Parts: sequence; C-alpha cells; structure tokens
Amino acid sequence: MKTKRDAAYPVVGITANIDEDKLDVQNIYSSYVNAIYHARLIPFTLPVPDITLRDSYADLAEGMVSRLSGLLLTGGDDVNATLYGEENFPFNGAFTEERDLFEMALCRAAVAQKKPVLGICRGIQLLNMSMGGTLFQDITKQNPGKALLMHAQKSPSYSAVHDAIVEPGSQVARILKTAPGGKVGVNSFHHQAVKDTAPGFVVSARASDGIIEAIEPKGRDAHPFTIGIQWHPERMWRHHEHAANLFAAFAEACGS
Ligand code: MN
Repeated sequence: MKTKRDAAYPVVGITANIDEDKLDVQNIYSSYVNAIYHARLIPFTLPVPDITLRDSYADLAEGMVSRLSGLLLTGGDDVNATLYGEENFPFNGAFTEERDLFEMALCRAAVAQKKPVLGICRGIQLLNMSMGGTLFQDITKQNPGKALLMHAQKSPSYSAVHDAIVEPGSQVARILKTAPGGKVGVNSFHHQAVKDTAPGFVVSARASDGIIEAIEPKGRDAHPFTIGIQWHPERMWRHHEHAANLFAAFAEACGS
C-alpha cells in the first residue's frame, strides 16, 4: 500500500540528453527538472548506458520503469531514420545510437507497464517512432512548396510563436483545458515532426500549416496517459496556463 508520502511525491524518470559534440557528458535542462518539481513530482535522471550494453537495454529499461511512476521523454538531437525504416537524408541532424535505442526501450517498457509517458519535442518523435510511426527528417525540405510557419523560433523560449489547433473532444484538449475553438499558442524549436502517426495513436493537435503538434493513443484504456507534445511546455508553464495544466495532468496520472 502506498504511504501518504509516496502518494504526494511520485518519482518520474527524465531521459538524459547527449550533445553530439560532447559525447562523454550527459545532461538535463533545469526547465524539465523544475517543471517536474513544481508539479509535486520527484525527478530522477535516467542516464544512457554505453552501446556495448545494447543487448541489456530492454532489461535495464524494464527495471528502471518498474521503479518509476512516470516517464518524461525530453528534447534533444534528431533520431536515426533507419530506426523507423528509412534512409538518412543529408538534412537529418546529429543522432546518437545509444540514446535513440535506450529511449525506445524506456518508452516501450513504460507503455507495456501502463506507466504515464509524456514526450516533449524529440520526445513526441521518439514516442511515435517507438510505437511504429515515422518522422519528417526535415519539415522544410520534405514539404517543398508548402508555406510552413515559424517552427524554429529566435524569440525567448517562453513565448508562443504559432497556434496548436487542438482536436475537439481529444484527451489533449481535456488536459490543456483549451477554450472553445480549441487553440493554444505554443513555442516552437523543431525542424523534425511526426509524419505517419504510429498505429494506435491519433493526432490531437496540428499547426495551421498541417504540422503535427500533439499525439495521443486511440484507446485510452490501453495506455492511460501516453501523450506527445511537439512544443516545450516546460519553458512555458510559468506564463501560459495550458502548459501548467499539462504538467498538472501528468502529475495526476502519475498518482500525485
Ligand atoms: Mn511547431
């Protein structure tokens, strides 16, 4: 049985970032950490084991996730396109095999164990391809002739630069508590995006140019909270209520 203290502060795993130019360092942005703390959750960073342990990734991920109340898949570099069955084009960015494979193992373990998953930016992409979907390696290059919105903003990260049009009646609409009309202003720091939604998942928000900005599972019973968000709510929650609502809903799903 859960003690009162456990119930008050569930532990959430946060995936570590590896930068292409500093392969011997793993890091975590404070904005994720503080969004989790402020949501009354305890963040544990999940460091990536080196690639020689790849045969143990599934077991390690299973063991980690079984000790957690939820999983936060963070932003970062691009994903190796061969992992979703495509060749890498020159416009795909840097990726690290160990982070890609280990996060896929964590994501699949969390879904298998029915633990809440929140995927942010790279995290929505990782969630989608882990579940069998595909990505745009570069939204501009792979949508020629299409007038795309500003998805790589230069303004401060808490500021919204485009709308996410939220699917009425979706789980994400409920979570964000969107007003009638279903739009939220979001920030944008990505050049990749979900292309084909994974089987069992549906689009819950798009930008007006059609770029997918959020996904959720089709059947909520199968995966109680498995949400991918293309924007960065961890940089917005102090200024935008919909971003605070998202972390509150994640915390509730984790048992806070
Ligand atoms: Mn965007």
